Amino acid sequence: MRRVDYETRVPFVIKAATIPKMEALPAVAKSVYFPCSKCETERYHRVLAHLSSTEAKLECEVCGKKAKLSTTKEKTKSTKKKKTTKKKSAANAHAEEWKNLMESHQNDPQSYNFQGFYLEDTVIDHPTFGLGIVTASHASKIEVCFEEGVKTLIHKRDM
Ligand SMILES: [Zn+2]
Repeated sequence: MRRVDYETRVPFVIKAATIPKMEALPAVAKSVYFPCSKCETERYHRVLAHLSSTEAKLECEVCGKKAKLSTTKEKTKSTKKKKTTKKKSAANAHAEEWKNLMESHQNDPQSYNFQGFYLEDTVIDHPTFGLGIVTASHASKIEVCFEEGVKTLIHKRDM
């Protein structure tokens, strides 16, 4: 039987993209060049497992020392920062409003007591919230602007 010599040479392509870069984790069972703390030099490490989407457990192929590889991804710190500043500025805006109210209401503060009766624009002194100005006075409730925020309190309560 005559053996037909087909074109058997399949071009062997090494994909450059498959070489692990630190932005993506190498696949499990692959080897990566990584500094070994025991060998005190760079060794081939076998990837034992992925611990998370950014961390992999490695093992030095020479001494067997375990190592942890983590990709250095910059987490979205900026968005977190923005959120806190936004929250802070809202609180600051309220504190500013409270300060302006305090300046325009210079009368002596009355200590708050739920049995008392407080009219609008009364400056009150609350044991927990401190100084505040009554912004609304209803039959049994008052709205008071304190430094930390507006609170609804009761008044005219008979005991
Ligand atoms: Zn080693």
